[in-house]
Amino acid sequence: MFNVDKIRKDFPILKRNVHGKSLVYFDNAATSQTPQVVIDAIVDYYTNYNANIHRGVHTLSQEATDKYEEARIKIQQHFNAKEAYEIIFTSGTTHSINMVASGFASLLQEGDEIIVSALEHHSNIVPWQMLCEKTNAVLKVIPMQLDGTLDMDTYHQLLNENTKLVFCNHVSNALGTINPIEEIIDAAHKVNAAVLIDGAQATPHIKPDVQALNVDFYVASAHKLCGPTGQGMLYGKQEWLEKLPPYQGGGEMIATVSFEKTTYAGLPHKFEAGTPNICGGIAFGAAIDYMNSIGFDTIADYENELLEYGTQELLKIEDLKIFGTSKDKTAVISFNVGNIHPYDIGAILDKLGVAVRTGHHCAQPIMDFYQIPGTIRASFSFYNTKEEIDVLVKGVKRAQMMLS
Ligand SMILES: *Cc1c(COP(=O)(O)O)cnc(C)c1O
Repeated sequence: MFNVDKIRKDFPILKRNVHGKSLVYFDNAATSQTPQVVIDAIVDYYTNYNANIHRGVHTLSQEATDKYEEARIKIQQHFNAKEAYEIIFTSGTTHSINMVASGFASLLQEGDEIIVSALEHHSNIVPWQMLCEKTNAVLKVIPMQLDGTLDMDTYHQLLNENTKLVFCNHVSNALGTINPIEEIIDAAHKVNAAVLIDGAQATPHIKPDVQALNVDFYVASAHKLCGPTGQGMLYGKQEWLEKLPPYQGGGEMIATVSFEKTTYAGLPHKFEAGTPNICGGIAFGAAIDYMNSIGFDTIADYENELLEYGTQELLKIEDLKIFGTSKDKTAVISFNVGNIHPYDIGAILDKLGVAVRTGHHCAQPIMDFYQIPGTIRASFSFYNTKEEIDVLVKGVKRAQMMLS
């Protein structure tokens, strides 16, 4: 059975003190902490087989190549992609999205329409705006509702034969809302539009099956699921990855080069120009293994318990308001207390050792919708505890007393 005390021992950073207090790390939606097995994978790479991949005949290069490609297969299996070459290693979600957006520049024309949701992270808004500027395609937005869910009736009305692409996050990083991506994907496919799902915030809590979803592109960052920063993935259906032009030119992505004509390498190398973050890819594989060893159902059940407890305890505080109250939510609580600026509460919490995020969470349109400058966001992971939530609640009460 799930034993949080045992799990916590896997994360060396959780022993840290901050301002003389035990660290309470509730900024998991920004980045997760790293278990010892992932740290060990990084150390092992640089200690024992650091070498460039796919090139050398020498032993170290072979070992590094094997481990890197093994990691790709772990990720393929985790997401249930049909082929390993449908997994492209990237530097993260932002990179993955830009890769697809820039590729679509050659496939769109004036009058084509792209739909994004109002709940997007800036990294899933700005690349599409840039794409629309380049192609004169039109950007349409699925509006959000007061509870932080999407207005799906309007979504269905926005779809038409001009819709070429739909982009939506699986889970909103600012509010924790789990979006109905099955419905979004199926409806988009009825008008032959492609769908990209931003899974950066979902993948730490949910194990998506890209074939069952029938999604065209699914993207994620390793650092949000116990892996290293600077590493991510793009899943793309083979037919789409073959249609899209390469993102960058360089080494590794070519078949032949001459000044008359260069031909591109096959998948996945066509999208992996240059020396990649080899160690990052391997550590991403180790992180996926670690999370699967606990089990995503176990993780979700435990985090839901934390979400329920945290919601109940925080709502006991007078004037505290939670933004994002969908019944389908991951363990993210975005809130404000009266008119106190979120930053001021965040700064006091930090003095008490509690790490939360304050601000617009890279999702300004959501804050504009609620007409607030930002929120305090506490995001829980499976290594957090109810006792830590008690520390947060006490801290918020103390900040409220000091500031009002
Ligand atoms: C964190 C996040 C991103 C950006 O991920 P990077 O790792 O910074 O590229 C995009 N979308 C969502 C929903 C996120 O939570």
